[in-house]
Amino acid sequence: MDPPRVPPGWWMLPTPTGRHALWAFLEHSGLQAGDRVLVAAYNFFPIVQILVQKGLVPVFVDVERDTLCMDPERLAERADERCRMVLVTHMFGHPADLDRLGAVCRERGMLLFEDCAHGPGILHGGRQVGGAGDGALFSFGIYKIVNALGGGMLVSRREVPAAPCGSVARAWVDAAVRLLVTLLMTPGAYGWTLHPLLRHNRLGRVLDPSDNDPGYRFDPAARGPFLPWMQTLVARQLARLEENVARRRSLVAALREALPGPGWLEPDRHGRSNGAYLGIRRPDARAVVRVLERRGIASRVGEFLDCSRLPQFGDFAADCPVAREAEETVLRIPSYPCMAEADRARLAAALEEA
Ligand SMILES: *Cc1c(COP(=O)(O)O)cnc(C)c1O
Repeated sequence: MDPPRVPPGWWMLPTPTGRHALWAFLEHSGLQAGDRVLVAAYNFFPIVQILVQKGLVPVFVDVERDTLCMDPERLAERADERCRMVLVTHMFGHPADLDRLGAVCRERGMLLFEDCAHGPGILHGGRQVGGAGDGALFSFGIYKIVNALGGGMLVSRREVPAAPCGSVARAWVDAAVRLLVTLLMTPGAYGWTLHPLLRHNRLGRVLDPSDNDPGYRFDPAARGPFLPWMQTLVARQLARLEENVARRRSLVAALREALPGPGWLEPDRHGRSNGAYLGIRRPDARAVVRVLERRGIASRVGEFLDCSRLPQFGDFAADCPVAREAEETVLRIPSYPCMAEADRARLAAALEEA
């Protein structure tokens, strides 16, 4: 296996998870306790928790309605001289408005860090996202577009040494559990729906901490290191990434054609999205989830949350109406690259009925 090619001027560090990548970056970012970090309100709450655990002050910025990514106008309003960094998330595989967000960072001398957990295959200005600022995290968890049964990666402008983590034995046990879940989710016997075990058992919840847990604390030792064979899995999937993205994008286009009307997000507003997550806005999103579930179709609402109003971040509460509305009304529907024509038609029909 060739080692990954590191672009000149960049440092690449394999990490146990995407979260560890942010943790390692923050250790060496020069930020001090009490510094403020601007972060999108609609977010994966463990990321905000990491900022808080590092003694940083999250300043929540509302998101754009159509992309669910940080709104540059709201960023300019919220930024002040105490803010040292902006953490931008390419949410749902949609590129954020890096031109305008980056301009605000440069004007104010703030660091820019990209959360590329959904990021492989997203293009901005024709280039893979992750290189716009000072650093970026990638995740290879089982729910991500590149799944290495865990693992993550930091890319950074400056050298960042590996941070402590759990044992190698731990990494193997975790990977084994994640392999099981991945097999249960694999299209085949159950088409593109979730295996009943995952739908009706607590297993899915245990492994996917999307529902809010106010007691969640990031623990670097809770996960073992990135194992060498994970790199092989990543490399293989990256070799097929363009094909994966092309299939997802054509699936999205076909669904939009079958179901014209309002509600669709605008994934390509700031570049080329990768189809990692397919979102549609429905005022009655929770009822739609139940209708789809009766037809054996797994969908989700509230997978990401308006972190500006979560109880554990109460000291940093802010009013972010777009994020709040997105948490309640944006429904995530399946966009697997291998979805059969008949399944796609079934999904469109179910959505129309719901
Ligand atoms: C999954 C995810 C992460 C973190 O990934 P892990 O590898 O699970 O730590 C970060 N941000 C977003 C938006 C994610 O969906």
